[in-house]
Amino acid sequence: MMHFETMLLSLEMRLQGDEQTRGLDVFMNQLNNAFHDKWRSFAALRKIILESKCPEIRFENIRALGISMGDKCIISDGVLRSSFAHAVYVILHEIAHQMQYTKYGEEFAAAIFMNEMADDQMIQMLKKIELTADRYAIAKGKQVLRNANIKDLPVTRSHYKSVDDAMLLHHIKNVRENAKKHNLNTIMDINEWIYNSIRSKL
Ligand SMILES: [Zn+2]
Repeated sequence: MMHFETMLLSLEMRLQGDEQTRGLDVFMNQLNNAFHDKWRSFAALRKIILESKCPEIRFENIRALGISMGDKCIISDGVLRSSFAHAVYVILHEIAHQMQYTKYGEEFAAAIFMNEMADDQMIQMLKKIELTADRYAIAKGKQVLRNANIKDLPVTRSHYKSVDDAMLLHHIKNVRENAKKHNLNTIMDINEWIYNSIRSKL
């Protein structure tokens, strides 16, 4: 069931008016340190992040490429050691999720992990969200690189197209089981649990 208070809370977390994304200066500095010769594209990337109303962004050592929550966007610091085109793809994929949160609220994907639903329906819903983010990341990434006159090959193949349904279902079921086990009743709690499970504990 969707709680109205939860929905309001998740919308309140988004940036309001001309508030700036927390951590954006540090984030852009790290990008600049890793890919200094790509500086021509940085203003456009910064603008896209701000326009997504993402409340906070940072690089972190995580066991995933990235994760988006209603209150923050975390990108694996491993992408700083990969190609620039790959880094742009990962950042824009997560920013696409931030745009989804801003448009629909964090609850929009909650049903996948919280509602009674047939396996195939859960898979199709998650796929739709991920492929939408991929399409955005690939199209926007190409545009950003082209406009900055950067010749790097953008990632043109969607990562999610190679993830099969069984893997997606395994992920969904694992999250659902843990939500039950740890009494996670909101999508915010569930996202926080996913985040904690991929954090590299040093
Ligand atoms: Zn995604």
